[in-house]
Amino acid sequence: MIAVGIDRIAEARGRIAGRIGPTPLVSSLSLSARCGVPVYLKLESRQLTGSFKLRGATNAVLSLSDKARRRGLVTASTGNHGRALAHAAQAEGVRAVICMSALVPANKVEAVRALGAEVRIVGRSQDDAQDEVERLVRQEGLTAIPPFDHADVIAGQGTIGLEIAEARLDTELVLVPLSGGGLAAGVAAAIKSRLPQARVIGVSMARGAAMHASLNAGKPVQVEEVETLADSLGGGIGLDNRYTFAMCRDLLDDVVLLSEEEIAEGIRHAFTEEGETAEGAGAVGIAALLANRIAVRGPTVALVSGRNIDEARHATIVNATMKAAGAAKGRTL
Ligand SMILES: *Cc1c(COP(=O)(O)O)cnc(C)c1O
Repeated sequence: MIAVGIDRIAEARGRIAGRIGPTPLVSSLSLSARCGVPVYLKLESRQLTGSFKLRGATNAVLSLSDKARRRGLVTASTGNHGRALAHAAQAEGVRAVICMSALVPANKVEAVRALGAEVRIVGRSQDDAQDEVERLVRQEGLTAIPPFDHADVIAGQGTIGLEIAEARLDTELVLVPLSGGGLAAGVAAAIKSRLPQARVIGVSMARGAAMHASLNAGKPVQVEEVETLADSLGGGIGLDNRYTFAMCRDLLDDVVLLSEEEIAEGIRHAFTEEGETAEGAGAVGIAALLANRIAVRGPTVALVSGRNIDEARHATIVNATMKAAGAAKGRTL
């Protein structure tokens, strides 16, 4: 039994329709030529707030009871989920509190405030921020919306799978960035239901891939969090994981891990060849294809999950790899 099935995903689509439009599915000429099969990019990087997380957040906000809606929402995410939840709550006139530690950089704090959320600074670690979330749930009756291990969030992310399946009936493979697994679980549930022959492969960074380690161990395990270009893929899956571990175990055909250099190459390719700004996490599907890490057999979709990358860092990556490419060309001339 799949915990979040196609019915819930179809319901989520009806719920978020009108608030969230479908994103483009575009052909990549360069990747198609390189891979020898048609390759498409599903551009969730064009989603409002810069990532697909708005789908799950919007579905979760719209699924609240009237009482929960009146009291408001809380989360500890400072990344794409925090942004998405802030935006989704504001759009529905619901209070959102985002708890952060004092170590979160000022620009991130401001970005969340600008989206209309209330910021609460507590302690000096992500754990301190999470403790405050739990206190607000207990003492003030706010509803916590976690970034991935939540049925409404998974169903919202799954709407991407429906869009892919309906746009390209011949899809043979979908590459999905994988962290906590809300995106991969939802997309795989939709794809496997609508296109049973298609494969779905998760892609993570080699540094600190918690779902990969957990799938290998046969249960949720903790991994050390280290810095990576795919920063949106960092963090654990939760030792008390309820949904995403089992769904990823039962639905994913494989998980592929990439080096930092391979991820950088994906970011560069997205920008110079496809004209798209992708953050590290968003570029891993493209990167896996460029690195020949996937056996492609037919029409392939790489899901580009987000674009929220520090501008200076993006420029450095694009310029560095362009210089290297220029130097290599110079030598052959
Ligand atoms: C959150 C996120 C992911 C991973 O999603 P999970 O549901 O945690 O697996 C991938 N890419 C981007 C840009 C994200 O923000």
